[in-house]
Order: sequence, then structure tokens, then C-alpha cells
Amino acid sequence: MQIRLATIVAATFAVSMSLLAQGQPARVTAPRLYIFENGFIRGLDTKLFNLAREEVKEPDFVNTSYLIVHPQGTLQFDSGGIPDSQFKADGAPVTEGIQSALKPLLPQMAAAGYQPSQVTYFALSHYHSDHTANAGAFAASTWITQKAERDFMFSDKPAGIIQPAHYSALRNAKTKILDNEDFDVFGDGTVRLISTPGHTPGHQVLLVRLPKRGPVLLAGDLYHYPEERARGILPTFEFSVEQSRASRAKVEALLKQTGAELWIEHDMATHAALPKSPAYVE
Ligand SMILES: [Zn+2]
Repeated sequence: MQIRLATIVAATFAVSMSLLAQGQPARVTAPRLYIFENGFIRGLDTKLFNLAREEVKEPDFVNTSYLIVHPQGTLQFDSGGIPDSQFKADGAPVTEGIQSALKPLLPQMAAAGYQPSQVTYFALSHYHSDHTANAGAFAASTWITQKAERDFMFSDKPAGIIQPAHYSALRNAKTKILDNEDFDVFGDGTVRLISTPGHTPGHQVLLVRLPKRGPVLLAGDLYHYPEERARGILPTFEFSVEQSRASRAKVEALLKQTGAELWIEHDMATHAALPKSPAYVE
């Protein structure tokens, strides 16, 4: 019996070592969520959001993205506003127009123990350029997108707040196309993409059930400021105001039903209160 146990221990050790050699990330037994800080957008005109300056407590945005690690794989949600390639070797902060970033995305991911090549799924809340900067780094993942969003992104001359060069590599990525549908990413109800068109044709949000923290809803740009939600105000540049209203109603009902926390991606106060990678929420 002792010999058999020793054999099993040795075999397990050998498997662990070979996984390490392949650069496999550590296995988890329950979902966890890493939050990456991808910079700031300062000096925005709040009138773009149909709000006067004095009606908004904090006019500046933070840019965030998230890695969800699940026993069955990983999902990166959004990818920042300034490509990692814009950072110089000295690591100095980068400014592009009203956007700035203190640190690139991939080193933050590496500090948490993950490489883009180990990311199973990639999803964008939507195609605006403050979310797509490093999308190309995930072209080897399976891209989960709504059909209407993808159609717009790869139309002849997509116009608006969009940088096709950031995501062109996704064109030939392995792709799971959803048609205005919600999607249970790992099949056990813990990580669900929720179709919320309106801000863009195929905007989507992400509902994650964490074992300790409970359910959280990563809201993309369904809202930018908490004041939009409190007062039922929509930005001036929605793809479809009608769809946005319906999507907000859908999400508010979902929040009620699940008791989920709402995390507005650009909201400074929400971001300030949460642990940042390599710490994680579980
Ligand atoms: Zn945004």
C-alpha cells in the first residue's frame, strides 16, 4: 500500500511539474475575479452624457478590465483604452488625447499568473476604443460576441468612437457568435454574458456569481456615471435610445432578482473601493 501511495504521489508531482513547464496557470476550485486598471479619461464634457457639470459628482472616468478565472477556464472582459505597445521601455505613463494610463495591461495579468495565450475566452462589453485597446492580444482565445456588434466592427467603414486596428486580429479568431442572446460561458450559471444592446448594436454586460462576495454585474457602459442611473438619463450618442432603455430595464430586473452588485466600469468610486490585481475578489 505504501509503495502504491508513493507511486501516486510521484505521478502527481510529475504531472504538476509538466503543467508548470507548459506554463499552465494554477487551477482554481471556484470562480475568482481580477480587476485591472487601464488608465483614466479626464476632462470629459459631461454634456455628452446629457448632464451638466454640476450634476455629476466625479466627471473623470477610470478604465478597467477584468479576468474571470473559473475551474473550467478563463474569460477576459474588455481590454483597456491605450494599447500596451504605446508604452516605452522606461515604463513611463502614456497620454493619448484625453486618455492616459500608468501601466500596461499584460504585465498586470502576468503578475496575477496569467498570459494571454492561457485565456480561454475573450469578450468586449462593446467596441468603443476605450475598451478595445489590447483586443488583439486575445486573438488566440475564443471571442464571444453579439452578431450585431461584430457586423458593425467589421463593416466597410465603421464610424464613431472606434479604432479597428485595435481589434482587427479578432476577425479570424475562433468566434462564438450570439444573436441578441444571453450566454452561460462555462455552462454552470456562474459566469453569464447578458445581451444589452443600445449603447452600441451588440453591447453586453457580465454577471459573475462569486462564492464569497456574491453576484456582481460588470455593467460595461450601460451606465457611465451613477447619476445616469439615478435619474434615468441616457448619453447623447446611443446607437438606439429605445434599445438602451429596454436593456437598462432588463438589467435592473436582473439586479433585483439576483441581488447582484452593479459595478459601473468607468466609475471612480466603485473602482477605488475594489481590490486590484494581483489581489482578487472571490
Ligand atoms: Zn467606455
